Amino acid sequence: MTRMIPPKGMKELGVETSKGTRVLKAGKDGLFHINDPKLAKKLKAEGLGVASTSGAYNPTNGYTCVKCGFGSFFKKCGKCGEINE
Ligand SMILES: [Zn+2]
Repeated sequence: MTRMIPPKGMKELGVETSKGTRVLKAGKDGLFHINDPKLAKKLKAEGLGVASTSGAYNPTNGYTCVKCGFGSFFKKCGKCGEINE
């Protein structure tokens, strides 16, 4: 279990995997709980921070789709395909 830190206020994140787009939802602590080590690694590569046990963290930046409001760390929206700059 890896706890990843989403950008501030982000509740959902679309992640492109080999099996298609996967939607992660933030837990009550505001973090994404990742059970898949490969996915955690991928998210880390995209710039997400890993929550430390101390609890202190700084939210990272991501993209919020201008078309549908879906949150993503990728420019291309995982929901509607819009490219967000
Ligand atoms: Zn979208």
